[in-house]
Amino acid sequence: MQVGEPTKAARVVVLGMGGTIAGRAERAGDNVGYDAGAVPVEDLAAGLPVLQGRNVSFEQVAQINSKDMRLADLQRLVDRARVHLADPSVQGIVVTHGTDTIEETAYLLQTLLAPAKPLVLTCAMRPATAVSPDGPQNLSDAVAVATEPGARGVVVVCAGRVHGPHEVAKQHPYRTDPFDSGDAGVIAQVEEGRVRRFRDWPVAARRTGRVEAFLRASAMPRVVWLSSHADAQAWPVRALLAASPEQRVQGIVVSGTGNASLHTELDAALREAEAAGVRVVIANRNGAPPVPYPQQPFADIDGLSPPKARWALTLDLLEA
Ligand code: ASP
Repeated sequence: MQVGEPTKAARVVVLGMGGTIAGRAERAGDNVGYDAGAVPVEDLAAGLPVLQGRNVSFEQVAQINSKDMRLADLQRLVDRARVHLADPSVQGIVVTHGTDTIEETAYLLQTLLAPAKPLVLTCAMRPATAVSPDGPQNLSDAVAVATEPGARGVVVVCAGRVHGPHEVAKQHPYRTDPFDSGDAGVIAQVEEGRVRRFRDWPVAARRTGRVEAFLRASAMPRVVWLSSHADAQAWPVRALLAASPEQRVQGIVVSGTGNASLHTELDAALREAEAAGVRVVIANRNGAPPVPYPQQPFADIDGLSPPKARWALTLDLLEA
């Protein structure tokens, strides 16, 4: 064994969350119209050459379509990931997950845990029963990243590309390479089991200390995501403000058009919300970080996309 070569004795933990990678279609060969989250995580890895002779353990944390992700599922995942990360025998963790909300889970895990070991989320766009499923290769690539010497932090591995948790966004409903990392680009590529790295692994985020509060909470602060658009109006915000105190919204993320711009009507209503004590933050509808300008209607959170800004604001309010 050469110096720096991954040791096969070190354990890789594979946590299953469900998703298309674990999907089963009625008819073999269907790539849409399947049940996501049907095949046990252990079966997804059966026979993969990358796992031959490796010390691997499996745990089914959830078995769901990630569009239906609930707080309890995320809490269980954060908790199990934390336990395994703290185990000195564990080299890295792989999480099989649906593509629809994987970018939110990646952001949340990096934000709450900022792991010093690799915590690698992977997925598929075709169910396990497809004629040519993409899951087995993605899972193999994820194991390569999870056992890469020096790798750390939460990443999303799909179609041979390794995305960072802050940048990754699903941009296509069907392609087997549906993710993009915008101007930042991918962190690395996996080529025949080797990791070719282009930039640094993810670094710790600001909200790392909030994991205990996140795990304890029975519900998250109420944060909604609205968008500006042509003919946007004030009534959705006014309807939120009219809710009873226990249903009252605590935070609003608003997607701006272009560069964090808002329709005047919506802008005025959001200022009313802010005056009434609601935290309002802006993100770009196009997902790119806003370029700050003096009249920017509301502050953004670290240039995050709307779904990630929603989690960031939620965690801020959780601690408040
Ligand atoms: N709806 C599925 C999910 O997010 C899609 C996928 O995994 O590709 O679980």
